[in-house]
Order: sequence, then structure tokens, then C-alpha cells
Amino acid sequence: MNNLDFTSNTSAKTLWLAIKAKLTEIYSEPEAGAMAFWVMEYIYRLPKTSVLADVTVQPQTARLSTVMQRLLAAEPIQYITGVSDFYGLEFFVNQHVLIPRPETEFLVDQIVTEFKNKGSITLLDVGTGSGCIAVSLAKNLPQAKVLAVDISSGALDVAQRNAARHEVKVQFTPMDILRATLEPFPELDVIVSNPPYIRDSEKSLMHKNVLGFEPDTALFVPDTEPLLFYERIASLAMLSLKKSGKLFFEINEAFGQEMRELLEKTGFHSVEILKDLQGKDRIAMAVKREN
Ligand code: GLN
Repeated sequence: MNNLDFTSNTSAKTLWLAIKAKLTEIYSEPEAGAMAFWVMEYIYRLPKTSVLADVTVQPQTARLSTVMQRLLAAEPIQYITGVSDFYGLEFFVNQHVLIPRPETEFLVDQIVTEFKNKGSITLLDVGTGSGCIAVSLAKNLPQAKVLAVDISSGALDVAQRNAARHEVKVQFTPMDILRATLEPFPELDVIVSNPPYIRDSEKSLMHKNVLGFEPDTALFVPDTEPLLFYERIASLAMLSLKKSGKLFFEINEAFGQEMRELLEKTGFHSVEILKDLQGKDRIAMAVKREN
């Protein structure tokens, strides 16, 4: 990384330009510029205004070189810092869990809005990952009892740390939802899930930030069974939800209509499919039929 080998104090702008030039090897010009500002802040504690004011910096070459190597390998910034923001809270993340996405904040917001003044309810989050859904629900619905399951013990460790960090009680249980015998959970009001929903054939469209770093088990499903998690969770929901209990899913935008049909066929009514900020089908909500 010879062009970043500054040996003496240098100007912040020169350093920023050199970092940005290096990052354009794998990122677009605007992305590289924004990331170079992030590096200046992360390593030198210099906000954008100080870079633009061109203050003098001590280069700290070794630290810079480590961070640059990780960025040039396409590692997401959130895994480098170990944290990610979600629904107004900061969550620990590592390679055992997906980096929380804005679409999932929209999912959480539906539940918070609907259940804010409904007193004590019981919720289950299936495939909790970092715990971002379960913990932000527990935080924003303080009367709720929150349960969460995941197949990955690495993910459950992260989720537990996040619950502790935000001082909420969530009951975490290891579970392979596809293989576990479907024991009903007692009397749930809400089941929420953001299960894997990217088809294997869609992998080629994905950025190497995602492919090289985020856990495959949290993302991908076989092309032949794109809805396998939804079918399983909807069946579990029929056994476990109270009368008129509600199911909330994040979904693949290609399957809005199929999701509606699946939910109606399994025993739900009032199915709604909501679009995300890009106008894509992203959230499914449904109410368990009474019978
Ligand atoms: N929305 C995520 C992505 O685009 C996928 C989340 C999931 O598979 N549940 O990478």
C-alpha cells in the first residue's frame, strides 16, 4: 500500500484523497469518498469538517493499513467497528449475524405501532440473528414478554449480548425451526420473522460485501423451495398463536402474491403485503383465523 505510507505529518485532505483513491479499486467514486471520510473519523477522530479544513494529521500507518486491508477485502464497515445502528439503538454484530437492514426497521415499526398501547403481550422472533428485532421490540414494548429462537449458537451469543446491553429481558432458545418437532409455544400474540429468503440463483446479483462476509445460513434458500421457512413458521403459528394472533414476516419482493396465497391457505385472514421504501413487496402481515 505504498501510496499510503506517509512517514511524517501530513494534511488531512491529502490523506483523505489517498485513501479514497485506494478504495476506488473496489468501490464507486462516491462510495469511496464517503468511506474515506469514515476512515478519517474512525482512525484519526477527524470529522468531515476538519478534513475539509485540512488540519494536520499524524499518519498512524500501521492502524491505517490494517483497516484499509479489511475494507479492500470488501469487509463491511459494521464488522470492522463491531456495531450497527437499528431502530435507534446500537447493536453488536459479527460474522455470525446479518447486519441489520432498514427494511427490518420497517417490520419492527409495524409491530411497535400496533401493540404500543396493548399492555402485556407475548411475542416470538424466529431466526433472531443479532437480536435486533427481539431487543428493539422488548425495548419499545416494555410490557411485552419476548421469546426468540435461532439455529446458530454464535448468533444467540450476539443476541444475548445485545439484550444485556439494552437491559431488556428476552428468553433465547436454540432451535432449528426446519427440523424441530413443532411443539406449540404457549399462547403467543405475535410471531415475527425475517428468515432467509434470497434464492441461491440470486447470489450472483449480490455485492461481495454480503457474499464474502455475512452468514449464508441467514440469507439463502434453495430455488426449488423459496418459501420453506415461511411454510414452516406459518404452521408453527397455527399451533402457537392465540385466537386472532398476528404473524409478521419480512419477505422476498418476488413473492408477495405467493405469500398471500400461502398465508390464506394455512389459516390466516386479513393478509396485507406492505411495500418498502423502494416500492417493493417487503412485509407480510396476517391474522390467525378463529375456529
Ligand atoms: N434483506 C437482506 C438482503 O438483501 C436479506 C435478508 C434475508 O434473507 N432475510 O441481503
